[in-house]
Amino acid sequence: MPPVVETEEHTALRAAVAALGKRHGRNHAPDELWSETAKLGFLGVNLPEEHGGGGGGISELSIVLEELGAAGCPLLMMIVSPAICGTVIARFGTDTQKQEWLPGLADGSRLMAFGITEPDAGSNSHRLTTTARRDGNGTDWLLTGRKVFISGVDKADATLVVGRTEDARTGRLKPCLFIVPREAAGFEHRRIDMELHTTEYQFELTLDDVRLPADALVGDEDAGLLQLFAGLNPERVMTAAFAIGMGRYALSRAVEYARERTVWKEPIGAHQAIAHPLAQAHIDLELARLMMQKAAALYDAGDDTAAGEAANMAKYAAGEACVKAVDQAVHTLGGNGLTSEFGLASLITASRVARIAPVSREMILNYVSHQTLGLPKSY
Ligand SMILES: Cc1cc2nc3c(=O)[nH]c(=O)nc-3n(C[C@H](O)[C@H](O)[C@H](O)COP(=O)(O)OP(=O)(O)OC[C@H]3O[C@@H](n4cnc5c(N)ncnc54)[C@H](O)[C@@H]3O)c2cc1C
Repeated sequence: MPPVVETEEHTALRAAVAALGKRHGRNHAPDELWSETAKLGFLGVNLPEEHGGGGGGISELSIVLEELGAAGCPLLMMIVSPAICGTVIARFGTDTQKQEWLPGLADGSRLMAFGITEPDAGSNSHRLTTTARRDGNGTDWLLTGRKVFISGVDKADATLVVGRTEDARTGRLKPCLFIVPREAAGFEHRRIDMELHTTEYQFELTLDDVRLPADALVGDEDAGLLQLFAGLNPERVMTAAFAIGMGRYALSRAVEYARERTVWKEPIGAHQAIAHPLAQAHIDLELARLMMQKAAALYDAGDDTAAGEAANMAKYAAGEACVKAVDQAVHTLGGNGLTSEFGLASLITASRVARIAPVSREMILNYVSHQTLGLPKSY
């Protein structure tokens, strides 16, 4: 037997999720798909068994998202709820937080959003200003700040908010994670109009002295950065899965069309000007998936540092492969590429999300330039 990249279990998981995706397809009802994905144990596949999860890792969860995407029905909130929030709570939460949140995140009955991006910080997370201070009573926290582009806040029971607390000794602000319930007083969300045809919306958040109990802080106040990265690496791997799934979906629609559509003697897929870019798109998606598998395997093996580099590269490769695959798919369909009937044109905007979020193409190139290649920094 030649060495395999995926285990038999992974191949079986792929097949099972692909069958689920096929049943729902592009015109799916998102809430129904979410519940069925949860009921079949796919949503919490990465969460610990003792808290209702499947006991797997990001390798398995990324397979689920990729296959749903390849069927035309990706679940964006999988990147956030089980992958970021579930992972952070499972790794660093208190026993009470684990018991309170993990079973619900795994069975889909509860949803958690994740908020790090701020209007005046953007890609520069060192400029985050959402700040938590202790109330006079010494136990409660008061959290104040603003966030933008936070997905799914309207449906989420709570948002895991990245804030900062002041180090009593040095006065320096350290990143910390807080669970903020949707109905908390002083916590407002306003929908941002996006040109995206999705059922998950983005929101601007304002937090005005939101009073939170001591146990709203996830994990250790002094290990904030480490905990944050424990969530951000899965986010990058999952965004890669999202992008690869979308790219595969677009490519499959284009290939189907190119095999049939005939305007000369042969189907248009016989023309190399049509066939070769589709073949290139397929190769790019496969390569991106290999990198994603590497990143997920490193993460699941507990190597956070190596996983960080691989997850960045995987997200970059997948985002670029997705944008190119969608562009070529739309072009392959000629005028039909822009009709609502074929439904591919809206993916042009959707595919750009993977190039920008959660960390942009340029910031990954910066990371690789500085961290991997040791080149000097310009900013
Ligand atoms: C659909 C969608 C969903 C999202 N969901 C969430 C969510 O749930 N939670 C959350 O916290 N955030 C979310 N985001 C926000 C996302 O993570 C940010 O948009 C992203 O981090 C980029 O930040 P920005 O938009 O402020 O861009 P900016 O930081 O303003 O960057 C703008 C441009 O400048 C470039 N740039 C910036 N700095 C440099 C540099 N040093 N060198 C070279 N180029 C540079 C960037 O690459 C980019 O092209 C979402 C965004 C979208 C579009």
